[in-house]
Amino acid sequence: MARSRIPVVADWFAEEGDGFRLLGTRCSACASVFFPREDARCRHPGCAGGDLVEVPLSRRGRIWSYTDSRYRPPQPYVSDRELPWQPYTLIAVELAAERLVVLGQGAPGISVTDLDVGMEVEVVPGVLSEDGDDETGTAWTTWHWRPTGVVA
Ligand SMILES: [Zn+2]
Repeated sequence: MARSRIPVVADWFAEEGDGFRLLGTRCSACASVFFPREDARCRHPGCAGGDLVEVPLSRRGRIWSYTDSRYRPPQPYVSDRELPWQPYTLIAVELAAERLVVLGQGAPGISVTDLDVGMEVEVVPGVLSEDGDDETGTAWTTWHWRPTGVVA
């Protein structure tokens, strides 16, 4: 047994390893792409509305902006206050084909000194937090951004 891997949000991403993709939706009338996915109606102000169809987003994009989180956010952010705060990077990535900017954490070990605006990054599976023990606990999965060419 190992920790059960459960997406922290259902239907925002799928698969593991090289097949891992973020999932958005595309309007069949105006081709606008939404992430987080929009399943109710097209939000384009000039569109009369069409069917929203799930689409996998591009795996790679370019850094639009980035920063790091050097202090613990207030509650309801979930973290173990007994442990020292571990800074993480936040990266906003422009997906050219979708005309979207998607925010996400940098992969573990990536710091702001590794990053630059315009750098190519790819989406990879990540773990947001873990509950319980290694045998019966849960790993809450999410996506991370990682510079291309970096192998975990
Ligand atoms: Zn539309």
